[in-house]
Amino acid sequence: MSNSAMVRALKNWGFIKSKEVEEAMLTINRALFTDRPFDDAPQPIGCGQTISAPSVVALMLELLEVKKGMKVLEIGTGSGYNAALLGVLVGERGKVISIEYFEELAKKAEVKIKALGMKNVKIIAGDGSKGYEKEAPYDRIIVTAAMPSLSKEHPLIKQLKEGGRLVAPVGDKYLQYIVVYDKKSDEFRRSIPVLFVPLLGEKGFSK
Ligand code: SAM
Repeated sequence: MSNSAMVRALKNWGFIKSKEVEEAMLTINRALFTDRPFDDAPQPIGCGQTISAPSVVALMLELLEVKKGMKVLEIGTGSGYNAALLGVLVGERGKVISIEYFEELAKKAEVKIKALGMKNVKIIAGDGSKGYEKEAPYDRIIVTAAMPSLSKEHPLIKQLKEGGRLVAPVGDKYLQYIVVYDKKSDEFRRSIPVLFVPLLGEKGFSK
């Protein structure tokens, strides 16, 4: 399979809906980030972590509705694949800040982002479970590790701009739902059930 065949399949299955997500997934070759890029399943990336299945990546990006020029925060850089897709979605005028708990993964992802020549994606090693106040507020926040809970008092919600949106898997260690929060309506909405690696750190799961 090729990257373009994967994108075609994701479109046929209904995971890719918009031109924007299709273009981003065609621009960034998933084969740069994992040895088994086109299997629709999570793959190991080291440090006990995974790159998410392409269908879940597409679904979350569609729910996030990223526009050109936006400022986006990602918690859980992992391989850097989703950060690169976000970089395409926000365009040159936009900015992506992606935080990774494990320094080793953050460094590897940074090398890949640099090799792609993306100047609008910044990778930071550290605990992103409380967000990243220094660059707040954000138009969009995406969490790619399972959050144990998410309330209106959570620091991530506070770091969203008026009219901003957050997409995150929320639940226990064995089952989560993708949750979408819209700041304008101040409402949470549930999407599909998923299984992500746990969010670590202060606001994550205890080890
Ligand atoms: N988005 C990634 C990609 O495109 O490869 C996949 C993310 S992987 C499913 C979840 C990542 O979240 C792991 O790399 C893990 O180390 C990271 N993580 C877990 N807790 C974190 C935290 N508190 N802050 C930042 N990253 C965290």
